[in-house]
Amino acid sequence: MSNQEITTNQPVRSRFAPSPTGFVHVGNFRTALFAYLFARHHGGTAILRIEDTDQSRKIDGAVENLLSVMKTLGIEFDEGPRLTGDHQLEYRGAHGPYVQSQRLELYKEHAQKLVTLKKAYYCFCTQERLEELRKEQTALKKPPMYDRHCRNLSEDEVSSKLADNPNAVIRQAIPEEGQTIVHDLVYGDIIYKHEILDDQVLLKSDGFPTYHLAVVVDDHYMEITHVIRGEDWIPSTPKHLLLFEAFGWDKPQFAHLPLITNPDKTKLSKRQGDVAVEDFLQKGYLPEALVNFVAFLGWNPKTEQEVFSMQELIEQFDLVKVNKSGAVLDLHKLDWMNGMYIRQTNEDRLLELLKPYLVEQGIKLEDYPEQFLQAVVKIEKERLKNLSQIKEDTQFYFAEPEYDPEIVIWKKADRLDAVAKLTALVEKLSALDVEDFVAEKLEAIIKEWIGEQGFDTGNVLWPMRVALTGLAKSPSPFEVAGCLVLNGGKENVINRLNKAINLLS
Ligand code: GLU
Repeated sequence: MSNQEITTNQPVRSRFAPSPTGFVHVGNFRTALFAYLFARHHGGTAILRIEDTDQSRKIDGAVENLLSVMKTLGIEFDEGPRLTGDHQLEYRGAHGPYVQSQRLELYKEHAQKLVTLKKAYYCFCTQERLEELRKEQTALKKPPMYDRHCRNLSEDEVSSKLADNPNAVIRQAIPEEGQTIVHDLVYGDIIYKHEILDDQVLLKSDGFPTYHLAVVVDDHYMEITHVIRGEDWIPSTPKHLLLFEAFGWDKPQFAHLPLITNPDKTKLSKRQGDVAVEDFLQKGYLPEALVNFVAFLGWNPKTEQEVFSMQELIEQFDLVKVNKSGAVLDLHKLDWMNGMYIRQTNEDRLLELLKPYLVEQGIKLEDYPEQFLQAVVKIEKERLKNLSQIKEDTQFYFAEPEYDPEIVIWKKADRLDAVAKLTALVEKLSALDVEDFVAEKLEAIIKEWIGEQGFDTGNVLWPMRVALTGLAKSPSPFEVAGCLVLNGGKENVINRLNKAINLLS
C-alpha cells in the first residue's frame, strides 16, 4: 500500500454501526473513533446507525448509554441518534431512520426484489433438516453450509410452498462459479472463491433481516462512502459486495481494522468487566487518555509523537497508517498514559474529578477547607495511574491514622531513639510559625536542624513520616506536613507526632 493519503472525490460519509449490547466494548470504541476521525479528517460526515435486528439481544437504555459514553469521550456524530440535555433520544440527518428495527419494510422489499432478480430465493427447509445437514457435514469435517436444496424450485413450487409457509426465509444466491475480490484499504486485495461462500439467510421467518442484508441496504441508502469496521467482518464482505452488485449499486470502500489482542496475543475477552469503556471511565481513566490510547490500537502516526489530542488525531489520522498486524491492548501503557494526562491536568479540574471518589471513600468534603483538598490533590497526582486510586492509602489526610507502632521505628534505630527524635522534633516544630510549614521551606529548616543536632536523617524523617501517615510507604513528610496544617493548623501535625510518642512509650 502506498503511503499516500486515502483520497476521495466524494465527500466522505463513514458510519459506526453498533449492535447495542448494553456496554461499549473497547474494540467497538476503536471502530467508532476511527470512523469518526476519518470523517472529520476529510471534512465529511460521521453517522451513527443502530443495528438492533437481533431482538433477543435488545437491552433497554443501551443506546442512551452508548451515546453518553461517546459524548464523554468527545465523539458526537453528525447523523443518527443523539442525546438531548435531558437524556432523551433525538435524531438528526436526512437518511433516517437510523435504527434498523425501524426500517423493516425496506429490508423486506429489498429481499423480495432480490428474489425477482434471481439473486436470492425462498428456502422452505425445516430446522430439523438443517440440523441434520449440519451434523452430516460436521461428521465429514466439511464446513457447515446450506446445500442449496431450495435454490432451484420452479416458480409453481415456490408459490404453492409459500401458500403453506408465507414466512419462509430468503437466502442469498451466491454465484456458482467465479470469485469476488475485496479491495480493502488496510488489508489490500483478498480473493474469495464463490464456492466457499454460503447461501446466507437474508430475511428471517420473523420478517427481520439478517445483518448481511440490512448492512448493505443501509450503507447504500445512507450513502456511505467508507465502511470502517473490525477485521472479523472481512469474510462477510464478499457477500456484501455481491449484494451491492445484485442491486446495481455503487460500492463503498472498505477498511477493516486489525484484531485487538491481549499482550500474550490471546483473544480479547468479550466480558464486560474486562473491556467495557464505561468501566475504564469509572475507574478513573481520563477521556482524553482513553482516546489517545485507543487511537494507537492499530494506527500509528509513523512519528515519535505519542501524545495526541483529539484535534491532533483528526489532523493526522488516515487509513493508510492503519496496520494489519494486530493491535495489543497493553493496560500498562494505558496506566502510563493516563498517569501522564493526570499529571498534566490542572489541579482545580483534577480536584473536581477526584471528589466523587473521595466521597465514595466516605469523606465528607464539606468538612475540609478547599485549600487543604487542593494540597492533597497536588501531592497525590504524582502517583496516580487512575483517579480511583485516590481511594487507596489516603485516609490519613482526613483523620489521624491507626497503625502498628513498630512501623514508626526506623530500621537502623530502636524504639528509644524513635521516641527521642520525635520528642525533639515536636519541640522544634512547635517553635516554628505556621508559615514555615510549606514543603520546601520546612524541608530546608528541618534538614538544617538535623545537621546541627548531628542526627541521622533517616532516624528523624522515617518516624516523622510514619507518624503523620501511619504508612510505611507514603509521600514526603514535608509535603504531608505542609498539607495537614491547612486543615487544623500546626496541631494537626504535632498531635500526630505526640500520638506516636505515646504509642511507643
Ligand atoms: N453491527 C455490527 C457490529 O456490531 C456492525 C458491523 C459493520 O460495521 O458492518 O459489529
